[in-house]
Formats: sequence, structure tokens, C-alpha cells
Amino acid sequence: MTPSPPGDPAPPDPAPSQGSHCDGGADPACRGRIVSPHQSCLAHLDARRRQEYFAGLRPGDAVDHRDTALDAELLARLLHSVRDPATGRPTLGTARFEGAGFTGVADFGRTTFTRPAYFNDATFHRDAEFTDTSFEASAFFGGARFIHTCDFAGATFAKYAGFRRAEFGEWAGFESVIFRGTAGFLAARFGGQLALPYTWVYGEMEMRRHSHSPRDAERWLLQAYWLLSGYGLRASRALGWLALAMTTTVLLLMGFGLPGSAPALRASGTLPSDGGPVTFEIDQEAPRNPAENRFTSKRFEKALRVTLDSVVFRSSGQDLTTTGAYVEMASRFTEPVLLGLGALAVRGRIKR
Ligand SMILES: [Zn+2]
Repeated sequence: MTPSPPGDPAPPDPAPSQGSHCDGGADPACRGRIVSPHQSCLAHLDARRRQEYFAGLRPGDAVDHRDTALDAELLARLLHSVRDPATGRPTLGTARFEGAGFTGVADFGRTTFTRPAYFNDATFHRDAEFTDTSFEASAFFGGARFIHTCDFAGATFAKYAGFRRAEFGEWAGFESVIFRGTAGFLAARFGGQLALPYTWVYGEMEMRRHSHSPRDAERWLLQAYWLLSGYGLRASRALGWLALAMTTTVLLLMGFGLPGSAPALRASGTLPSDGGPVTFEIDQEAPRNPAENRFTSKRFEKALRVTLDSVVFRSSGQDLTTTGAYVEMASRFTEPVLLGLGALAVRGRIKR
């Protein structure tokens, strides 16, 4: 017997070789979890015992059908036996379907899971229906494989929704899904079409942003874009950043960027005593800030004009102090980008 690692919360299985796994019936390789007190999984249970099992189930009961092959009829009977007469919804407590193989259509539509639902590494060989399904606790679909379509339209995930490493086949529908907790889609693979709710594209993108590869410089640009524009969906965010950048530019220009007066031209030279040719050096003073009255309406108007020109990537031609020149340069770089992001986001919203 292998010793448990320190701190392992799982108690040792008293009889791992017999008792927990199906005796196989016609299929000696079956790894299905037994339906206690019998020695077979639900798929291999004889008709009478299966009937007894279903009759003994109540709404909200825990079920454990790990590694069990469940066809459409078996699943339908299972869910029917936990149907709550008050709501008409199949209602399950802790539901363990890890490694299960759903060989027919898996219709969990309008089912309520009041406790955690485990579908890790389950395989949905046919369509998977989770429409209007309510996961009141966490739902785990890590490593699950949806070979055909899966539809979670209208489902509610009250806690964690785990789809890490899940594989989605032809079509994955997540329209009108409500994720109240974290939706984990790290390393999930989408093989076909993906239908997403507006609110969730955001969450899904956020996931992608966190799953970056740090070597990839393009990703960083993309991440900046996603952050600033709310993933191309939140126009208000990009425009908000633009407004903030423009306000900052105007204030900086008024405070430090605009010179007090147009810099004077200054000529300096020496007049030779013998009346020979005169050489003048004509010089322009560096523009300087005024000593006072920086925040006047006239200066605001000038600063605003410089800023607005910057947004459309134009030089204002306005005389600026050294600080002002740098402020203008920075704003000419950032503000057109923000404006573009805002426009993209607006377009994205119109298209949806
Ligand atoms: Zn079995």
C-alpha cells in the first residue's frame, strides 16, 4: 500500500480493488462507480435493482456515477427520479460524473445543482444540453470533452465555473449565460463555433489576457488594447481614457506648456568702428512660462487647440515651452490611439 502524502485530506480507500468499481457484468473493463450496496455501476445494474435505485432517490440527493457509461434514457430516468414536484426541475445535490461517458444526448436542461457538480474529464459523445441549468454551487468541467455541440444557453453559474482544458467540438453555446463567480477557461479548446453573451466575451477575454505567454511581444500590445478598450466592447472605457488623457494634456499645457508671450527675436552683434560689414546673430529666446495667471480662459483655449490637434495626429504649430513640446509629443502618440480604440469599440457594439 502506498503511503498517503502528508496533508492528504482524502482518507485511504478501504478496499480499492473491490467494492468501489463495477463488477463489469458483460464488460469486465468497466470502471464505473458502483451503486451501493450493489456491485455494479448504474449501466450494468440489472433492471430490478436499477428500478429500486431510482425509486429511492429524492430531489436534492447526491449521486455518484463516476466513470459510468450513461445513455440518454438512463440519464433521463435518473434526472426524472430527482425531479422536484414543486418546481418541475430535476434537482441534484453533490453530483459526481467525473470520467462519465454520455453516450446519448446528455440533457441536463432545467436541472438544478444545489451542491457542486463534477463533470471533470467526462465525455459527451452526443449533444450536451445545459440550457437554463442552474449551478448553485461550483461546477467543474475541467478536461471535459464535448464531441458535438454543447448548449449552456440561459444557464446560471452561481459560483466557480471550471472549464479548464475542456474541449469543445462543433458548437459551444454560452448565450445568456450568467457567471456570478469566476469562469475558468484556461487551456480550453474551441474546435468549432462559439456563441457568447456580450457580458461574457469580456470574461473570456480576461481569461485569455491572463493566459499570456510572456515571450510574445505582440500579446502585450494586444493586452494593452484589451485593457484600454475593454476588449473592444466597452466604448465608454476607451473614450473615458481619452477624456482623461486630454484633460491631463490641457492642464499640463496650461501649467507648464504654453509660454507667457511669443518669444522675442533678439539680434546681437558688434558694430565695427571702421564701418566695415556688420554681422548680426538673430536668436529666438526659448519660450518660457509666465510667472502668474497660467489658468486663464485664453490659455485654456490655446491648450485645448493643441490637444485637439494632437488627437487627430496633427501638430498645432503653437509655440510651446520645452515641457510643452514633450507633453504635445506624448499626447500626439497616445490620444489618436485612444480615439481609434473608442471608434473600434463603438463599431464592435453596433455590429453585435
Ligand atoms: Zn459498469
